[in-house]
Amino acid sequence: MAMLARRAKRALRVLREARMFARAMRSPRHPILAQVVVTRRCNLACAYCNEFDRVSPPVPTADLLRRIDRLADLGTSIITLTGGESLLHPELDSLIARIRRRGAMAVLLTNGFLLNRDRIRRLNRAGLDYLQLSIDNLKPDAVSKKSLSLLDRRLEELAACAEFQVTINSVVGAGGNPPEDACTIAMRARALGFTSTIGVVHDGAGQLRPLEDGHRDVVGRILRLAPSLFSFAQLGHFQENVVRGLPNRWRCRAGGRFLYVCEDGLVHYCSQQRGRPGIPLETYSAADLAREADHPKPCAPFCTVSCVHRVAMLDRFREEPHDALAAILDARKAHDPGFRAPAAVRMLSWAFLGPRRQEGAANAALRALGVESWDAGQTSGLGRRPGRDIEGRP
Ligand code: SF4
Ligand code: SF4
Repeated sequence: MAMLARRAKRALRVLREARMFARAMRSPRHPILAQVVVTRRCNLACAYCNEFDRVSPPVPTADLLRRIDRLADLGTSIITLTGGESLLHPELDSLIARIRRRGAMAVLLTNGFLLNRDRIRRLNRAGLDYLQLSIDNLKPDAVSKKSLSLLDRRLEELAACAEFQVTINSVVGAGGNPPEDACTIAMRARALGFTSTIGVVHDGAGQLRPLEDGHRDVVGRILRLAPSLFSFAQLGHFQENVVRGLPNRWRCRAGGRFLYVCEDGLVHYCSQQRGRPGIPLETYSAADLAREADHPKPCAPFCTVSCVHRVAMLDRFREEPHDALAAILDARKAHDPGFRAPAAVRMLSWAFLGPRRQEGAANAALRALGVESWDAGQTSGLGRRPGRDIEGRP
């Protein structure tokens, strides 16, 4: 029964994901992802972290519920609860339930140290969609205690009980650990049935610290372990440049498509660029979203904030579906000539790289997801160029 319930929840989640994607494709003016700080306090003290303290109380629940409602009113698709350590908030479950009631996807960032079976079951009941935790090393050291040896029992409990999707982020470049450690962590995550992502260590402003050769090789191997759409897309030129320490040309849409809401209820570009624009969420308007999304960010070329990259990837896909998909496919094939694209990418290729007659079918799919059909006047590019198939052949 438990297995059936998990499968049913997973199927519903995939449907809601597809709906979120379709809405992101349709409109460029609502936030795709917002991170909300529920407490600054953390039970750990990682040496590289600039996002925690040891003393702050939890943000009052009534304030957080108002912020969730405001984000939902702005049309936010995904709301992530973060910290500090988010599990230190005593009313976390009611926050998750509110996110779900307001129609957004609920995500939790945690260091995992406070998880046990009872806590995981409460997260299930609240309706959590995704949980992400980062692991920095195999054994604790002076830089970080987010270690596989300390967290593995919690990972097993998650594998046994969680009805939400678990993602393990292996951080490469934290401390002086061998790069192979990140690969071991990613393989353990995959063995437990989780998805895995890769994080690249940054400086105090979210800017890139170039990786050594050994680290770059490990990044490529971990990315090949993870066939999800977003991980797949990370194999594009963007991630290549990040691991090589080269600048990227992209438009950061923070402040519009991505929002970071601090403990004081102010909107910032991201956790690493706090203070800008620094406007209270309660007065944040459609005009603010539009202006800040278009505002150039000088920190963009060497940015490592991966969730904002992913949001930008959705926007690039929205504006130039042919070019965006083709670039992803080309980069992937350069790494692995015999690869087979994941189902989600094959579906997107069918919808966006195929012949023009598929436009009607793609619009029908959008309508089935509760989204009006694509406005042909928008800059979508749908069906307007010669098709390419999944292998990139014209
Ligand atoms: S667990 Fe997370 S929030 Fe806490 S100190 Fe480490 S990186 Fe920062
Ligand atoms: S480019 Fe955007 S996401 Fe990256 S550090 Fe700057 S404001 Fe933050």
